Parts: sequence; structure tokens; C-alpha cells
Amino acid sequence: MKQFRVGVLGATGTVGQQIIWRLHNHPWFRVTSLAASERSAGKRYADIVRWRITAPIPSEAADLSIQPLGAGLDCDFCLSALDSSVAGPAEEELARAGYPVISNSRNHRMEPDVPLLVPEVNPDHCKLVDVQRKSRGFTSGFLATNPNCSAAGLVLALKPIDDAFGIEAASVVTMQALSGAGYPGVPSLDAMDNVIPYISGEEEKLESEPRKILGSLRDGAVTPAAIRFSAQCHRVPVIDGHLEAVSLKLRGAASPQDVIEALRNFVSEPHRLGCPSAPAQPIEIRDEPDRPQTRLDRDAGGGMAVVVGRVRTCPVLDIRLVLLSHNLGRGAAGAAILNAELLAHGGYIRERKHPHAAPERESASSGATRQ
Ligand code: NAP
Repeated sequence: MKQFRVGVLGATGTVGQQIIWRLHNHPWFRVTSLAASERSAGKRYADIVRWRITAPIPSEAADLSIQPLGAGLDCDFCLSALDSSVAGPAEEELARAGYPVISNSRNHRMEPDVPLLVPEVNPDHCKLVDVQRKSRGFTSGFLATNPNCSAAGLVLALKPIDDAFGIEAASVVTMQALSGAGYPGVPSLDAMDNVIPYISGEEEKLESEPRKILGSLRDGAVTPAAIRFSAQCHRVPVIDGHLEAVSLKLRGAASPQDVIEALRNFVSEPHRLGCPSAPAQPIEIRDEPDRPQTRLDRDAGGGMAVVVGRVRTCPVLDIRLVLLSHNLGRGAAGAAILNAELLAHGGYIRERKHPHAAPERESASSGATRQ
């Protein structure tokens, strides 16, 4: 695989830092360009970033000067960790200018021609890039997204169960880490010694995004999975890692042991393809009655595995279980990088000849004929 140059948008934030850290010594990608707000623009990265990771700032990023959005970025593609207040138009503009933009932000996730990817779950949805390029008149650029941090772990655990038995309905109660709110996030006097039973917009995302991800792509459009979701989301005083208590109504009969077998036998397509960030075992099963636990299990698979435990019969629905995933690994930075690996493997990312290439012409049908 050729090495591609990466521009990190929102490089100073919680997710941006994780992207930069995770790309250090990456075999396919190297960071060549950083962008953030006007507050940070023009400054040396190491001088302006409030670096929150134990490992030092990677040398390839430390001396880079931060660029404002919209400037010609010296990269083949962008990984976006922009705040959602600016991500929508900024990412679209870059895609139109010819950059593949792989985003963490919610803005474009549910647009019908934008792939909402979890490479182990719906790698075939990459083909939406072709639909998008046609409908929006993009040639080399495109938008692709990863899901909300709670949805990312959830769909990974649900995929083998849905394939084996069919899921009719899912009730999900989350206990979500503080870092999910970015930096500085929730004020300490609200967070400590407390549980906050509300995260703005989170329940809606958790009830809609999994249906698109678990849906099927036919004739250039995704038919959402026919699963009803009910989500209740809570912010709890842990730093990283989202824990979720899930109850499922199944279409077919299955014992807890059948469900565990289905989870254990799951084969990871991106790992088979050799994507460097794909763990060999994306779903780890814990048999102990008190696992997964946030502090003990969030780094499983380099923060890219979902850890499932407490699989048992549900007296109201059919099956219940507890799952845990790292919100910044599987739920954000690691997810975006894995998406980029899948898309690069599929030939959707190419070398960009000139960082200041003229914007592509927008087709007459752009926006109006999205599928
Ligand atoms: P964050 O820590 O608040 O960082 C936000 C980034 O956006 C910073 O680099 C900031 O740059 C930049 N930014 C803000 N306003 C800007 C502007 N007007 N123009 C250009 N850049 C601007 O947030 P985060 O937690 O990293 O989240 C980043 C994105 O990922 C969000 O869309 C979030 O919803 C999503 N996400 C987060 C998580 C998570 O677990 N944290 C999980 C999944 C998805 P400055 O430093 O220059 O202000």
C-alpha cells in the first residue's frame, strides 16, 4: 500500500489528538497537515494544543503550523474531528474541492448518499461513495462518516446477533464517559459524584444511526434495518469508555449460549483485508459475572474491540447483555482511521497531485438529487 498524506481537521481537540497519536508510525498514512479554528491558526501545533495523551506529541505533528479551514491542505485526504457547529459546510466544501473527508461529526451521517461506516459491519456501504460522487458531481472528493460513539460499539455487538437470529427491538441504557463531550466538556462540579440522565441529541442518534448501519444497500440506497430502538443515555464520572446495558427482542429463538457462539464466531472483514487498525477479535466475550468493567476493559483490542459480557435471558424481552467500547478508539478516532483504511484498500483514496488544485465543478444536480 502506498503511504497517503493525511490532513487532520479539528487537530487540537480530544478526537483530533487521538487521531494524531494513533497515526504515529501508521504503515499506510502519515500526518502532513493540521487545521483548527482561527484561534489556533498560524500557531505551531505543540505550542497551542492542550495535549491530553500520556505519550508525547508525535514529532511529525509537533512542528506543523495549524491552518484555518478552507485553506489548501497538503494532503491526500482529511480525517475530520471538527466541532459539529462547523463541520457540516466545512467538510462539504473540502469534499467538493477534491478531498476525501472521513468525519467523526454527526452532520452528514444520515444523508442518504453518505456512507455511515463500521468496517466490520457494513463494508459494502463504501459503494455509496460512487452514488455520492455522481449525485453531487464530486470526482476525487467524497464524504464518509463513522457513527456516534455509543452506536459504534452497539452495532458491532448486534451485527452477529442480527445475522443469526434477527433482532426485532433493542432497548439500550448507556453509561457514557466524560471525554465523549470533548474538552473541557462537562464542568467538574456537574460531573463529580453525579450521574446526568441527559445528553443532548444522543438518544436520537442511538435510535437512528444503527438502523442505517445495519441496513442493506440495494440499487444505490440503504434500506434501514427493521429494528426498533429505545435509548436512554447517561453521563457518568468516568474519563473514557461507554458502557451499555442492552435488552433484545429476537425474531428467532436463541439461548444465551447461542448468542455467545454467534458473537465468538464473528469474522472481521477489515482484519481479513489487512487493515492495520482492525483488531483480529473485534468482539471479545467476558465470562465473569462482573465484566465488562469500564476501567479494566476499555482498552481491549487497542481500544477498537467491543467487550461483551453478562449475556443472559431477559424476562421482558428475550436476551440481555452488557457491552463496553472505548469512545475515542472504536467510537471516534480509531473508527475514522479504520474507515480510511477500508476506503484506501477499496481504491477510493488516491494521491492528490497538487495541494492547491482548483475546486471541482459542481454538477447541476448537486444536492437536489441525493438518493
Ligand atoms: P473538541 O475537543 O471540542 O474539539 C473540537 C475541535 O474543533 C478543536 O480542534 C477546535 O479547534 C475545532 N473547532 C471548533 N470550532 C472551530 C471553528 N469555528 N473552525 C475550525 N475548527 C473549529 O471536540 P471532540 O470531542 O474532539 O469532538 C470532535 C468531533 O467528533 C465532534 O463533532 C464530536 O461530536 C465528534 N465525536 C466525538 C467523540 C468523543 O468521544 N469525544 C466521539 C464521536 C464523535 P480549536 O482548538 O482551534 O478551537
